[in-house]
Amino acid sequence: MADKTVPPTTTTAGIRVQSDEHSLTVGRDGPIVLNDHYLIEQMANFNRERIPERQPHAKGSGAFGHFEVTNDVTKYTKAKLFQPGAKTDMAARFSTVAGERGSPDTWRDPRGFSLKFYTEDGNFDMVGNNTPVFFVRDPIKFQQFIRSQKRRQDNGLRDHDMQWDFWTLSPESAHQVTWLMGDRGIPKTWRHMNGYSSHTYSLVNAEGEMFWVKFHFKTDQGIECFTQEEADKMAGADSDYHRRDLFNAIASGDHPSWTLYWQIMPFEDAKTYRINPFDLTKVWPHDDYPLIEVGRFTLTRNPTDFHTEIEQLAFEPNNMVPGVGLSPDKMLLARGFSYADAHRARLGVNYKQIPVNKPVCPVHSYSKDGAMRVEKVEDPVYAPNSYGGPAAQPYEGEAGLWYSDGEMVRQAYTLREDDDDWSQPGKLVREVMDDAARDRFVNNVVGHLCQGVSEKVLQRAFEYWRNVDKDAGDRIEKGVREKLGGKSDQPGMASAESTKQVEPAE
Ligand code: NDP
Repeated sequence: MADKTVPPTTTTAGIRVQSDEHSLTVGRDGPIVLNDHYLIEQMANFNRERIPERQPHAKGSGAFGHFEVTNDVTKYTKAKLFQPGAKTDMAARFSTVAGERGSPDTWRDPRGFSLKFYTEDGNFDMVGNNTPVFFVRDPIKFQQFIRSQKRRQDNGLRDHDMQWDFWTLSPESAHQVTWLMGDRGIPKTWRHMNGYSSHTYSLVNAEGEMFWVKFHFKTDQGIECFTQEEADKMAGADSDYHRRDLFNAIASGDHPSWTLYWQIMPFEDAKTYRINPFDLTKVWPHDDYPLIEVGRFTLTRNPTDFHTEIEQLAFEPNNMVPGVGLSPDKMLLARGFSYADAHRARLGVNYKQIPVNKPVCPVHSYSKDGAMRVEKVEDPVYAPNSYGGPAAQPYEGEAGLWYSDGEMVRQAYTLREDDDDWSQPGKLVREVMDDAARDRFVNNVVGHLCQGVSEKVLQRAFEYWRNVDKDAGDRIEKGVREKLGGKSDQPGMASAESTKQVEPAE
């Protein structure tokens, strides 16, 4: 008997179906027939439910809310979303980097911290991390870096030897690895971690004056972290712990918020500052460029359809609205291409028409057609035209334009006075960490190095840490030697056996 209190099941064409339980057959016990369209449709759609996972940042979740400006920062930018009193709807997604779509939330890994602001001037995306720096500074190394953190080709397992092999051959990673091995390497929840633009961006004010800026989103919940032991336990007990925590907090009315601060560097300072301000492996010390409060964002609404609202939520660093722009950071410029390209590959060329990615302002683009286009396009379909089609209306003061007179070369950034790879991680170890935090850091590194890292790579790792801090490096070597006892030559890359030991910790 049909239950009239619920809607009737239909095909995807909206046609009522006869049964949720029985396929159409020839006689009660006979074969199923091809004209049971609903059965065929269900089987076919099921086979196509999964879309490729993100590469990287596959495991994550998100929520929706709003951003409010709390300070007057008009002297730095004309961007409408940063004008006094402005309130803008937004989306956020948090993630791990190296794991797959089902991997545990509490592995030691940086966290993605991506925000989309739906402004009247188009979408503004801030695709950040929970760390202010990154492992590499040239985009040609990014793909290689991610491969070294993911899985081996032979047995499909993760492998500490290849992680440390890459890191110790890439001294620019020292700052981020120090950060990662410290207390903040495993946040307790996404609500209890900060977010950073990491990159330097540009701002331009109404007078056309340009500034460089770093974004800091400080958690209003306070920083809380897991120790390695707590995280390992949680990875087994609840691999979706961070996703569950955010969803349950918002569902219960406990709305998390983050305060946005900017570090502002006057345009001319960048030319002579003692650190290359566009090098993604460096922070700007707070003493040189203090934090300036800008506003606050609050997450108030959970997704109701994970696939359409989170899995298809697509961020790209090139989404910059008037008043904000890119910078000469090589990594940022490459991400400007690669993120949009990743979405075209994963979601299709018309991914910006998916409701969660759709701007709230009118779109007048000459892009047309392509798979899954749903927004109609009108003639004329070319520019310039004399039939009243959209025409570019140039505006003064575009951010992200800067002077450069260089020739084409393949070279590292020009080194400045304080541009070595070891000072900033060294400061983190010596001056920011206290004795107890330093002990935990040394233990984390020792634990990580004792899982399948070959002698050759171990030697380089001890040197790497001695460069960061002599005492920490000596303690790390002592700790590893003691822990490994006589078994100092772990198999490493030479043997797939090595990876057996790796899996539980990360
Ligand atoms: P400050 O003393 O002004 O700032 C130290 C920063 O370190 C604070 O932002 C603090 O965050 C943060 N911090 C505290 N514990 C840890 C940890 N275990 N892991 C990572 N960060 C931590 O010094 P400087 O600005 O001169 O920076 C010194 C070092 O601090 C840098 O080399 C960098 O490694 C690290 N750092 C610097 C940041 C920056 O933008 N300048 C941002 C984050 C880290 P909080 O205030 O929330 O406690």
